[in-house]
Amino acid sequence: MRLKDKVALVTGAARGIGRAIAFGLASEGADIVIWDINIEEAQEACRDIEALGRRSLAQAVDVTNFSKVEEAVNKILDKFAKVDILVNNAGITKDNLLLRMSEADWDAVLNVNLKGTFNCTKAVSRFMLKQRSGKIINIASIIGIIGNAGQANYSASKAGIIALTKTAAKELASRNINVNAVAPGFIQTEMTAKLPEEIKQKMLEMIPIARFGSPIDVAGVCVFLASQEANYITGQTIIVDGGMVTA
Ligand code: NAP
Repeated sequence: MRLKDKVALVTGAARGIGRAIAFGLASEGADIVIWDINIEEAQEACRDIEALGRRSLAQAVDVTNFSKVEEAVNKILDKFAKVDILVNNAGITKDNLLLRMSEADWDAVLNVNLKGTFNCTKAVSRFMLKQRSGKIINIASIIGIIGNAGQANYSASKAGIIALTKTAAKELASRNINVNAVAPGFIQTEMTAKLPEEIKQKMLEMIPIARFGSPIDVAGVCVFLASQEANYITGQTIIVDGGMVTA
């Protein structure tokens, strides 16, 4: 029970990687707040978390909307009185080659992935600063490090998250707040299920561990970064990709 009595907020956690992170944190003792635009699935995830004996709260929050984010943080404080862990996981893709990418698809991806991470970090770190403690974990992607044809918007958003992580880590370190990023490779979720079979096969051939990742592979690293064992790690990006990218 490495996270007993901690309160963790995970964005985009109704399904996929976020849901696995929420369960990973709950299984180490944390109470869980789930933010998602998909409120029915978020509520269902919360019921499963309560079955583990934890408290939970599901809130319909679009992370692109700063005033809704602030309102929702105030409701968390009403119920739990604190937030110890923030995982910025909500993310979307809208892929196309650069010349065919619409302005709307560029804006949508940057808004959810990068501005959403900024909004939640700003709203939550205000309270973490008063608490003088906190762990912030941002879900980036190896695509933010190596780039990928067809993902100009997504790669730029994820590279932005890595840079934001470094800056926030420097600004918040003196108040005992750690900010790190996790950069997954190919993880089996609804986001990757929609890719064509031949692309999946090509990706698999590039993975030295010779399997796709599961959301649990990402959750384990997030639990570690949220725990006391990671107290001296900040500003880092941990790659979780089965060996695809080596620095
Ligand atoms: P997913 O299965 O599509 O889940 C994402 C969740 O975020 C969904 O529940 C979605 O709600 C929610 N969401 C979307 N926009 C939102 C918003 N504006 N505000 C709040 N919630 C929102 O994706 P995933 O594969 O688990 O990915 C999770 C994170 O990992 C993302 O940041 C992604 O970029 C990153 N990642 C994934 C992979 C991978 O291979 N899967 C690799 C690297 C990085 P709806 O269901 O309503 O859309």
